[in-house]
Amino acid sequence: MHEFSIAVNIVDIATDHAEKANAKKVNEIELEIGELSGVIYEAMETAMEAAIKDTLLNGATIKIINTPGRGKCLGCKSIFKLENLFDPCPECGTFSPEVISGKELRIKSINID
Ligand SMILES: [Zn+2]
Repeated sequence: MHEFSIAVNIVDIATDHAEKANAKKVNEIELEIGELSGVIYEAMETAMEAAIKDTLLNGATIKIINTPGRGKCLGCKSIFKLENLFDPCPECGTFSPEVISGKELRIKSINID
């Protein structure tokens, strides 16, 4: 499962961060996941819940922020909602827009004690 290995990686980074800060536990972790990142939101939630067991993150609130996909047309420069990376520009039909947002896959914040 793709999401699980990402979750383990996120938990590793968060644990490392918490240990360096001499934290006893992590209260909350906030993730930013773009609609175009290829990660399934629900699967990620489940994977995170499994991955935090027996770590400093055990019991932490997991917040996931979903960033919508947005693209900028390289032809007419209009900005539009991108449902997937292969969507053409709705104004002029040019393919391969520049992705402005939606590919995020990162830890936004960690709240530690
Ligand atoms: Zn266009």
